[in-house]
Amino acid sequence: MLKLEQVSVNYGATCGVAQISLEVHEGELVTLIGANGAGKSTTLRAINGLEPLANGRIVFNGDVISGVSPAQVIESGISHCPEGRRVFPLLTVRENLEMGAYRRQDRQRVKRDMEHMFDRFPRLRERHQQVAGTLSGGEQQMLAIARALMARPRLVMFDEPSLGLAPNIVEQIFSLITEIRTEGVTVLLVEQNAYAALEMCDRAYLLENGRIVTHGSAAQMLANQDIRKAYLGG
Ligand code: ATP
Repeated sequence: MLKLEQVSVNYGATCGVAQISLEVHEGELVTLIGANGAGKSTTLRAINGLEPLANGRIVFNGDVISGVSPAQVIESGISHCPEGRRVFPLLTVRENLEMGAYRRQDRQRVKRDMEHMFDRFPRLRERHQQVAGTLSGGEQQMLAIARALMARPRLVMFDEPSLGLAPNIVEQIFSLITEIRTEGVTVLLVEQNAYAALEMCDRAYLLENGRIVTHGSAAQMLANQDIRKAYLGG
């Protein structure tokens, strides 16, 4: 479904990622793990059209999407739930959700989807008129996820959805991601919490210094002694 072929991104003289090749198949939950600065966010930003490629190409459902605008990437069916949530702080919860669907023409279905989001996130329904900047961290993360889903993506990318959240909220977010995938949305997940990510994914790629150093099924990665030592606390 999604294929990165030898993708490199540079930030001036600094290398963000180098020669990354990876695949996500329809219906999979694939995770990227790696230390701070390994290039995980850069990979998602490259897919999303936010970073120009120095090399390689990105193909989604048979179409080359590298070089197109972020808006066109969304239109092709990829949604991005960015690191740090990035909700529109001065807009209300409802307006944030509407922004997620701004490219859609099917306004009746948008309305229905909005109701569905409120059923799924009762906390957001309660606070639909509250400006997003005053929501708690966990509520903002739920809003960011709901906003990404309002685009009706075929593939959704989550960047560090558990960052800075209390353990019970983290659990909720992870079960939500699993649920989204069960509903047929393909997921590409970036997580600092490698153990949790490997527990819920089908396959994983490990990045170090901008390169993919190993990849495999969740079971293979969890059994890998080097990964256990470096990323899973032994
Ligand atoms: P983290 O887990 O800390 O978010 P990451 O694996 O997502 O890390 P990236 O944010 O992709 O890592 O960063 C990869 C490399 O690119 C790092 O060395 C980082 O300093 C560099 N980098 C990222 N964004 C920029 C930028 N806008 N300008 C310059 N260098 C950047």
